[in-house]
Amino acid sequence: MSTAQQGNQGRLWAIAEISRRVPRRISNGLKVSDYFGCNTFNAKVMAEKLPKDVHKSLVKTMNNGHVLDQSIAAAVAHAVKEWAIEKGATHYCHWFQPNTGITAEKHDTFLTIDGDGQPIERFSASQLVQSEPDASSFPSGGMRATFEARGYTAWDPNTPIFIMESTNGKTLCIPSVFISYHGQALDKKTPLLRSVEYLSRNALRVLKLFGKTPDHVEATLGPEQEYFLIDDAFYSLRPDLVAAGRTLIGAKPPKGQELEDQYFGSIKSRVLAFMQEFEHELFKLGVPVKTRHNEVAPSQYETAPVFELVSVATDHNQLTMEMLRRVARRHNLAFLIHEKPFAGINGSGKHNNWSMATSDGENLLDPGATPSENLQFLVCLMATLKGVYKHSGLLRASIASSGNDHRLGANEAPPAIISAFLGDALTKVLDSIEAGDLRGATTERQVINLGIAKLPEIARDNTDRNRTSPFAFTGNKFEFRAVPSSASTATPMATLNAAVGEALGEIADAIEGRISAGEALDKAVIEVVREWVIETRAVRFEGNNYAEEWVVEAERRGLPNLRKTPEALAQLQTDAARELFTKAGVYSVDELESRYHLETERYIKDLEIEIAAMQELAATMVLPAAYKHQALLASSVGSLKAIGVSGDLLGAQIAEVEQVAGLIADLKTALAKLEAEVEAAEGEDLDKKATALAYPVSDAMAVVREACDKLENTIDDTLWPLPKYREMLFLV
Ligand code: ADP
Ligand code: MG
Repeated sequence: MSTAQQGNQGRLWAIAEISRRVPRRISNGLKVSDYFGCNTFNAKVMAEKLPKDVHKSLVKTMNNGHVLDQSIAAAVAHAVKEWAIEKGATHYCHWFQPNTGITAEKHDTFLTIDGDGQPIERFSASQLVQSEPDASSFPSGGMRATFEARGYTAWDPNTPIFIMESTNGKTLCIPSVFISYHGQALDKKTPLLRSVEYLSRNALRVLKLFGKTPDHVEATLGPEQEYFLIDDAFYSLRPDLVAAGRTLIGAKPPKGQELEDQYFGSIKSRVLAFMQEFEHELFKLGVPVKTRHNEVAPSQYETAPVFELVSVATDHNQLTMEMLRRVARRHNLAFLIHEKPFAGINGSGKHNNWSMATSDGENLLDPGATPSENLQFLVCLMATLKGVYKHSGLLRASIASSGNDHRLGANEAPPAIISAFLGDALTKVLDSIEAGDLRGATTERQVINLGIAKLPEIARDNTDRNRTSPFAFTGNKFEFRAVPSSASTATPMATLNAAVGEALGEIADAIEGRISAGEALDKAVIEVVREWVIETRAVRFEGNNYAEEWVVEAERRGLPNLRKTPEALAQLQTDAARELFTKAGVYSVDELESRYHLETERYIKDLEIEIAAMQELAATMVLPAAYKHQALLASSVGSLKAIGVSGDLLGAQIAEVEQVAGLIADLKTALAKLEAEVEAAEGEDLDKKATALAYPVSDAMAVVREACDKLENTIDDTLWPLPKYREMLFLV
């Protein structure tokens, strides 16, 4: 057979390319602390470049979430421009996070032509503070259509301004929010900032009960980011990865992750070189990436930062995903952020480690050293449980995406049922409170006797882990583990902040009520905690969340099991959603409605892309390879006949041709069924369409996949055009 007839030339080329790859070197002998944040307009630069009073005012804005004093904008803009130009930036942009889930930017040069026709660099206060991108093409969920077609971006001073370097220049990036002229949020960041304010307001009420009056309370976030890397030569040969971010077909390789030899294994030199370079880039941007390791699946990795304020961590996670993608290219690697790029092995998540901290630096989910601190901890803990219990449907909605549907409940990731894990020690404490052991405990001494003072050592025991829980307490923070790898952390965190914020307000009400009825603080707290322990018991689950029995048990407990995105998103249209989000000021009714629409539309588009890509793969790659293979077998049968072979010997080969013909027929039947289901799903009603895509259409896709994968395992390897799992996952 001539090479022209061979289908695997692309694969052979890719394998040859990969065998020649060497780890990319960067020259970097520097100590990280010497250059950390060198491309940010950070505290040190601000102190140097800004007049004293301007500096003071800006720091106040940044640290305390105060509104920017407009009168200082001109001075800040001037200093920012001087600094940026000194560093070689030619352009600036407002860097924001529209509802696509990724970031957006439109660059403008500093250059203007002055009155004398002379070129000069300018950057005004208004250019710093506000910009007006042509935003009509961003998803708005229909909101702007009903109000105002335009939106604008506004500087959000919480995250330091930074400079992005690229091959031929540098751009000053101004972290921004994106809102309509009527103040509606058109992005993911604005609701997050609002949620922090709400959380803070209510947490302050709780702290006041304990005699504390910090300026404000923040949510903190440390997102552990999982991802896959494969060689970009393979990537370029997989139209499904290019279009949909995941492999839509692909037979299981002989070796997957069963040997468990990848997790925490030594990192391959090419991959390590990549990690070192992206970390170097992130350090320059002031992103505190701390941990790197291999993950469970072959070719899967993780990076985790030191936690920061949730708004900053959200921006920094966006920068992290962007840098992973950019730097991967320099290393001839393709960065796969999809939740499930490969079937049959683990998918990727983004564990959102979350807590609350006061402006004085106290972690509210850290069991304290004294009994009274422990009471405060218990109040914050119960508020968190209540928020998660009452709004588990909304939390599920906040992590809904087509990609995550492949991961949740797939025995590798937390299920679609939201529950919370506390660990033995804390469970015992709550049990004893529930049993009334503490009734009448009004003095510190009695509380000590009941062991609450021992919380810190026990609860922080790292062995006390439940990797299957979607929301696990890990000693001094919760880990929301069901967040999709590709998602912005803004929406899940805004939802959690709102849910817990509401509960903090309610628990403050309850305790205040008892105190004003004459009860002592300790007693009031313990009584309320006891009531809440009982009320929220259903959401606590210490067992194996992957087990089938949990699905049954959760149903008995009345916990929602929202299996796929359409059911999850439907939660956004409930009265409970409207009540919580409007009360918290996180979304208005319109904003919530628009969010529902754009998430549903996004889901539909994702599926439509996958369907089209799958149909194309089957028609233009799988079937042609199958026909060639069938022809090869048929000609072999013909040759045998020509030399007079007959009987069983001939029959064995005829059977093989028939088997391939059968697989081809199966694939064609599956494709016809898929097409019919897609047609049946068509219609004006978004919800119905999404549900049809989630169930009958997805089921039909699974059948197409199965037929393709059987063919892959049957056809002559030299005829198969697509890089195989065994190649993509193991050759780096
Ligand atoms: P583990 O690996 O055991 O889950 P780590 O201590 O490595 O725990 O933390 C994982 C992530 O949790 C890191 O990003 C870390 O910065 C973050 N984290 C730690 N404490 C907090 C906190 N108080 N609030 C938010 N995130 C936190
Ligand atoms: Mg963790």
